[in-house]
Amino acid sequence: MKHHVQPFEKPIILVHGGAGSFSRRNFKEYRSCLKDAVTNGYEALLSGSAIEGVVEAVKMMEDCGHMNAGIGSVLNLHGYVEMDAGIMDGKTMRAAGVALIRKIRNPILLAKAIMDHTDHVLLAGDFAEKLGEKLGLETYDFAPQEDKKRKYNELYSRLLKGDIKHLRRISELVQKYKDIAYGTVGAVALDREGRLAAATSTGGYWLKLPGRIGDTPIVGAGFYANKNAAASSTGIGEYILIAGLCRKAVEFVEAGLNATSAAVKSIEYMSAFFGENTAGLIIVDFRGYVGAAFNTKGMGRAMLSKSHKEPVIAIFRDYSLV
Ligand code: ASP
Repeated sequence: MKHHVQPFEKPIILVHGGAGSFSRRNFKEYRSCLKDAVTNGYEALLSGSAIEGVVEAVKMMEDCGHMNAGIGSVLNLHGYVEMDAGIMDGKTMRAAGVALIRKIRNPILLAKAIMDHTDHVLLAGDFAEKLGEKLGLETYDFAPQEDKKRKYNELYSRLLKGDIKHLRRISELVQKYKDIAYGTVGAVALDREGRLAAATSTGGYWLKLPGRIGDTPIVGAGFYANKNAAASSTGIGEYILIAGLCRKAVEFVEAGLNATSAAVKSIEYMSAFFGENTAGLIIVDFRGYVGAAFNTKGMGRAMLSKSHKEPVIAIFRDYSLV
């Protein structure tokens, strides 16, 4: 089967539910989250802008509980949730990221509020949450349920054995100081007026150190949008940060590639420098080309556009969804 290399008709929305190994996953619920996100995001796009489309899609995935964002977020090394999110409007070139969020139910709404109501691009910690509350955002009790505690214990033993490849140094640290484990969500859209936007939200990855900030709230790494293209990434944040992955993918479009090839090239770059099982990316360009590429076993993704009758959903390699 071949990649789809025709542009779609706008509006267009493409979402992802994180790249990863998908070893034990409830596919039915995961797929239905992707479907709801892309359908609701598309509805928002039909009546509003690209920003409204991506916010609606990401918010749905934060609320569904089966993805590593919002109420489904994974636990850090100390067993609690710390979330990151970011958003960018390709028309105004305004962007905002929030990091280390523990109480606000929808970090993507907080990122949008920081973009709309402050002059900053990145805000972390307590004050960001207080501001969110003042602006009327809902809070949530992120105390972990039994299934998450079980998974935490299982991963913690693997960490002690040095079994988790991207956490080898942390494994040594934990063994030395006894007290001291991915599935992000994202959306990109091109609206009827040709405006592009990107949004990404995550709980990070299991057993990350408290205070660790990944790629997701960082403009150019976890998300990027300008007048040419909009991209959202997922994978091991440290590598994505070093690569500046979303900015890199958009630059490939600026250099003349369509979004489909730009996604493939960006992920080839990640594999060449950081190895397999490191990243995934979705991207839409101003002409309506879309791209979705990953070097992990799978990456949940879905899309909808004026050219489609119903959402296209894929998890593993499947060229019906680029
Ligand atoms: N990129 C996210 C992070 O490192 C994790 C993910 O995409 O699953 O925080």
